[in-house]
Amino acid sequence: MNTPTTSTPTISPTESYDVIVVGAGFGGLYALYRLRRLGLSVRVIEAGPSVGGTWYWNRYPGARCDVESIDYSYSFDEDLQQEWTWSERYASQPEILRYIEHVADRFDLRRDVTLGTRVTAARYDDASSRWHVSTDTGRSYVTRYCVMAVGNLTALNTPSFPGLNDFQGSTFHTARWPEEPVDFTGMRVGVIGTGSTGIQVIPQIAEQAAELFVFQRTANFSMPARNRPLTPDELEAVKATYRERREKARWSFAGIPVDPATSSAHAASEEERRAAYDAGWQAGGAHALISQFADGLIDRVTNEFAADYARDRIREIVEDPEVAETLCPDHPLGSKRICVDTHYYEVFNRPNVTLVDLREAPIDGFDAHHLRTATMAYELDAVVFATGFDAITGALLAIDIRGRDGIALREAWSGGPGTYLGVGISGFPNLFVVTGPFSPAVQVNVIMAIEQHVDWVADCIAHLDEHGFIAIEPTPEAQHAWVRHVGDVAAGTLRSATDSWWSGANVPGKPRVFMPYAGGLGAFRQICDDVAARGYDGFALSNQEARGDEQREAVGA
Ligand SMILES: Cc1cc2nc3c(=O)[nH]c(=O)nc-3n(C[C@H](O)[C@H](O)[C@H](O)COP(=O)(O)OP(=O)(O)OC[C@H]3O[C@@H](n4cnc5c(N)ncnc54)[C@H](O)[C@@H]3O)c2cc1C
Repeated sequence: MNTPTTSTPTISPTESYDVIVVGAGFGGLYALYRLRRLGLSVRVIEAGPSVGGTWYWNRYPGARCDVESIDYSYSFDEDLQQEWTWSERYASQPEILRYIEHVADRFDLRRDVTLGTRVTAARYDDASSRWHVSTDTGRSYVTRYCVMAVGNLTALNTPSFPGLNDFQGSTFHTARWPEEPVDFTGMRVGVIGTGSTGIQVIPQIAEQAAELFVFQRTANFSMPARNRPLTPDELEAVKATYRERREKARWSFAGIPVDPATSSAHAASEEERRAAYDAGWQAGGAHALISQFADGLIDRVTNEFAADYARDRIREIVEDPEVAETLCPDHPLGSKRICVDTHYYEVFNRPNVTLVDLREAPIDGFDAHHLRTATMAYELDAVVFATGFDAITGALLAIDIRGRDGIALREAWSGGPGTYLGVGISGFPNLFVVTGPFSPAVQVNVIMAIEQHVDWVADCIAHLDEHGFIAIEPTPEAQHAWVRHVGDVAAGTLRSATDSWWSGANVPGKPRVFMPYAGGLGAFRQICDDVAARGYDGFALSNQEARGDEQREAVGA
C-alpha cells in the first residue's frame, strides 16, 4: 500500500561557497583545481551532462584540435604531462574528452562539480558583497566570488532561415552533435558553413553521403594538418624537456613553443620566399605560412605573398578551375581564424560533392524537402549547420548578470562589451571572467591562455584575502583605456582587417567590436603580471571599513 504523502512545497536550499565557477571545460576545471588549493570552498556548475565543455559538445565526425596535442593540454602538473600519451599530432575529440575526464579523476575534481545545471542569473548584493547565483534546477548559491568559465565558443549561432521548421529532413548543429554516431549513408546532405568546423566535418560526411552540397558564404584559408601518429621517440624527446617547452609557450606569441621569425619577406628573394612557404606548407599547421616571416600579420604585401601561395595550392589541388576560384579566399591571411584540414580541398574533386557559392545566390529558406537559394532548390535529407557561435560574449550574456546597484550586464554591454584585461568588468565586483573579451584567448593556444588567467585570478583572490579586502573591480578609466589599447593593437595588424566572429560580425545585430587582444600571450602575461605587481593597478579594492563608510554615507549617517 502506498503511504499517503502531504504536498509540502519544496524549498530548494541555498548553498554557500567562497567561489562559484560556471562551466566545467578546461577553464572551469583548472579554476577548481587551483582555487581549491588555496583552501577555498568551490563549486563548479555545468549545464552539460559531463565535464569537458567544448570537447563534450563538439563531437561531430572529424572534430580535433588544431594546436598540436602536446601543446594543447594542461601544463600545470609535471606528472600529468609525463604520464599522458597523445596518440596523434592533432588529437581527435574522443581522445581530448578522455584526457579531460582523466584530469577530472586524477585530481578528484568531480566531487565539486554539479552537472546538468544551467546558471540562469547572478546578482551582486552590495550590502553583503556576495553574489547570489540562480540555476534552472531551482538550486541557488551564495558566493564571495563568481568565476565565469563559460567558454568563448559555447552559445550556438543558428541563423533563423525562413521555413526551417517546415523542413522534414534531419538537422544537426555541429556543436550539439548526438552522442550516437549519425549515419549519412545514401543521403543527400547539405553542410552550411565553411569555417574551422565545416572544414573538418565536410571530408567526413563526403565519405558517406550519396550527395553532399557545401554551402559556402565565405571561402576560408585552410592549411594542411599533416596529421599522423606520434612515435614513441618523438614523445620521449618532448617529455624530456616538457618543462622548458611549456615555459617557452607561456611567453610566446601564440602559446606554442616556436621561435618567431625575425626577418621580413621583403628582405627575401622570390626563390627564398617560395622555399620558406614550401617548407611551411609541407610541415603543415595553422602557422604554416603566416609565421614564415616576421611581418606576415602586419605588412599587406608580405601577407599577400603568403595568401597568393595558399591560393595557388588550392588551384593546384582542385581540378575544376571554377570551383577552385570559388574556394580561393579574398581576405588577408589571418584576418579570420586560419583553418587546419585533412583533405578538405581534395573533397571537391569527388563526384558526389557540389560547392554552392552563397555570395552568388544567398539562402532564401527551406520548405519540406529543400534548401532554397535565390536561384536553386536543393533536395536534402539532412542539413548540418556548421555555423559556429555567438562567440566570446554569447554565453556570458545568456546569463542575467547584475552587478553593483542592480546594473545588468546586457545593458552595460548593449553598445559592445568592455572588460579590463579580459578578466574583470567595471561595475561587477568580485566577478572574474576566464579568457573574456579583450584577452588574447581565441587567437592563441586557449589552454595556455586559460592557465594564465586562472593563475592570475587565484593569486588575486589570495591577495585580497591576505590583505583583508572584500571586493575588487576595474575602474571605468582602466577599462576604457584597456579596450582602447586592444583596438589600437589590432589596428596595427591585419587581424581586424575583415569581418569575422572575432568582431561579432557573424551574428546579426551584434555590436561590432574587435574582441581579441592581438598582442600575443607573452606580452599579455607581462601586462597582467605588472598590474598585479603594482597592487592591482586599475582595479578598485575595498575593505570592510571602506564598505562601512559607503553604507553610512548611503543612509545619511
Ligand atoms: C570544434 C572546436 C575545436 C577547437 N580547437 C581548438 C584548438 O585546437 N586549440 C585551441 O586553442 N582552442 C580550440 N578551440 C577553442 C576551445 O573552446 C578552447 O580551447 C577550450 O576548450 C575552451 O575551454 P573553456 O573551459 O574556456 O570553455 P568550454 O570548453 O566551452 O567550456 C565552457 C562550459 O561552460 C558551460 N556553460 C556555459 N554557460 C553556462 C551556464 N550558464 N551555466 C552552466 N554552464 C554553462 C558550457 O556548457 C561548457 O561546458 C576549439 C573549439 C571548438 C568549438
